[in-house]
Amino acid sequence: MSTIVLKVKADILAKMKEKYESPASLPPGAIFKSKLAGVTVTGYHTGKVMFQGKKADMEAARWQNQAVVSNSSAKAPAAANLPAGFSGMSVLGSDEVGTGSYFGPLTTAAVYAPHDKLTQLKEWGVQDSKKLSDPEIVKIAKKICANYSYHVLNLDPVDYNRLIQQYNQAQLKALSHNFVLGKVLEKIAPQKPDAILIDQFVSPTTYFKYLSGQPDIVKNHVYFHIQGEQYHLSVAAASIVARYYYLQSMDKLSEEAGITLPIGAGNEADQIAIKLLKRHQDLGHFVKLHFANTQKVKQAIHQ
Ligand code: MG
Repeated sequence: MSTIVLKVKADILAKMKEKYESPASLPPGAIFKSKLAGVTVTGYHTGKVMFQGKKADMEAARWQNQAVVSNSSAKAPAAANLPAGFSGMSVLGSDEVGTGSYFGPLTTAAVYAPHDKLTQLKEWGVQDSKKLSDPEIVKIAKKICANYSYHVLNLDPVDYNRLIQQYNQAQLKALSHNFVLGKVLEKIAPQKPDAILIDQFVSPTTYFKYLSGQPDIVKNHVYFHIQGEQYHLSVAAASIVARYYYLQSMDKLSEEAGITLPIGAGNEADQIAIKLLKRHQDLGHFVKLHFANTQKVKQAIHQ
């Protein structure tokens, strides 16, 4: 079991608290603690955040570049597994959003970014996709969709809840990535990308294991990297497009719910779900039912 400790500033700590807060009982000095699959994350008043478990590396890597200090050997990920000059190649990239959010869809996008159009993406501000506000995301996503080959798979909660009975979440993600990548390859044919980069969420072995039995498996020149958006703008562009579609779905679902639905899986999400249940609205239309939130809010209703 591995343990990684990051030291972060107050604003990042607050962001992490928002993401990881759960009703777990807190050890002394802690302000949040969350048990996820394969990793437990505990944040302390001092700014220390501890990641423990098999997936400590992968989870901590998401925050690594925002940390002040880290004891981890897993620094900002080395691009050792990517060919030299990768960031300047014509790459088809993919990313997804919505996996950690109780409300809303699982949205996966792939964007093809040919080498001669990379400067344009940079000029639009695609490089810093994580720092973009929602209105900026919308503006840039529209430009990407108008000028680049892309495909989006938006699994709304109803579809998601049906599929999650058959597949685990990581497998659903793998199937989604494979699907959107295949679609873009069809759209750009006979042109072929130099490489494909998937924003990594499981090991390559697991990814392809999840796809076994699928009729069409995209596997030539496929690379994986955590924080893939740092290694090619196509992944950053895909994350922007996925976010854009996700936000649109959240707007539509919020309208149907008659209340603004929050992103995330914390207390705010629980409170809104409780409201929907009290109004006898169909939770399965809005949320990912397999999240632990569902049991929690149902219990709260019956108290
Ligand atoms: Mg991702």
